[in-house]
Amino acid sequence: VIRCRAAVAWAVGKPLSVEEVEVAPPKAGEVRIKMVATGICHTDEHTLKGSFPNVEFPVILGHEGAGIVESIGEGVTSVKPGDKVIPLCLPQCGECSFCLNPESNFCQKSHISEPQNLLPDKTTRFTCKGKQVHHFLWVSTFAEYTVVPEYAVAKIDAAAPLDKVCLLGCGFSTGYGAAINTAKVKPGSTCAIFGLGGVGLSVVMGCKAAGASRIIAVDINKDKFAKAKELGATNCINPRDFKKPIQEVITEMTGQGVDYSFEAIGHAETLVGGISA
Ligand code: NAD
Ligand code: ZN
Repeated sequence: VIRCRAAVAWAVGKPLSVEEVEVAPPKAGEVRIKMVATGICHTDEHTLKGSFPNVEFPVILGHEGAGIVESIGEGVTSVKPGDKVIPLCLPQCGECSFCLNPESNFCQKSHISEPQNLLPDKTTRFTCKGKQVHHFLWVSTFAEYTVVPEYAVAKIDAAAPLDKVCLLGCGFSTGYGAAINTAKVKPGSTCAIFGLGGVGLSVVMGCKAAGASRIIAVDINKDKFAKAKELGATNCINPRDFKKPIQEVITEMTGQGVDYSFEAIGHAETLVGGISA
């Protein structure tokens, strides 16, 4: 058992609390990882606010990290101690119909199909002050050590800088993949991106890589604009600078609206705006 620190979410609406926790060794088919870096995705914040009623508290959140394998359970063959890895908040069992389908990677062991508050054997590896603490999406990256199923771990290049590649665990793949794989943005097209957080900035990068000629980035926080321009945005607009709805502004800027519109905020209202744009 390893004693280390973790940011524990004790209850909905309570701030995270850094505590000493015990992390049990990995059982068969599991991997214990020393987390080196973690991002903070807005989904962690939604969860802390209680937006996902299936998540059980107390819980160790975080799902966008990178680390080094510390030890492996019986039967694990794809990684060994010392390997650099990214834990996968969307597992890849490699056997279900979704994993075998080239058009999808939405593994049926994902949290939509199977609760991930405990590891697959229905027990937890985390305890704190004598209480059992739940896992989150099987990855729980807000801990110095975490235990995950082998099929929720990807081995990465030994030279990868963990403080940067941790973003591949969620935000980057979500945004970049939305542009490249889901929307399949075409060269010369126009795109609008609502929200320039980790996800939205990654959409900007995806649109740029796909050859979009106009990339309109929208955010109410103008401090996001310098980074968006650096990554490929051609126009940055703040809805608070206009009296009319921002989708009307975008329609005027483009003549008839954009070819592709991405909502990367998480509001029903801006989803509707995005569709109008
Ligand atoms: P973030 O908080 O880092 O970024 C959100 C951005 O939206 C901020 O820059 C904020 O200023 C801006 N914003 C807020 N309200 C706005 C408004 N009314 N108009 C314009 N801009 C506004 O969030 P993130 O981590 O990038 O995540 C974005 C959303 O994507 C969240 O809802 C998150 O839960 C979701 N998400 C989904 C997946 C997935 O489905 N796979 C993965 C990651 C994140
Ligand atoms: Zn996320």
